[in-house]
Amino acid sequence: MEGRCMKCGSQKAMIDTVMTRTARGTYMAKGKCESCGTTVCKICSKDTAESLVSSGEVKKGY
Ligand SMILES: [Zn+2]
Repeated sequence: MEGRCMKCGSQKAMIDTVMTRTARGTYMAKGKCESCGTTVCKICSKDTAESLVSSGEVKKGY
């Protein structure tokens, strides 16, 4: 998946991505920019989060 890297200033592929949930129940993918290694976060819908986890694309962290 891709997220917006603040350091690169553009959409970048995320590596080592883990799906987490915030206290409010929002799903958030946390990974690292493959270019610079900066932490990149992306808010996901429940459906998106569950499909990414079940496909194995991201690790389940909640
Ligand atoms: Zn970056």
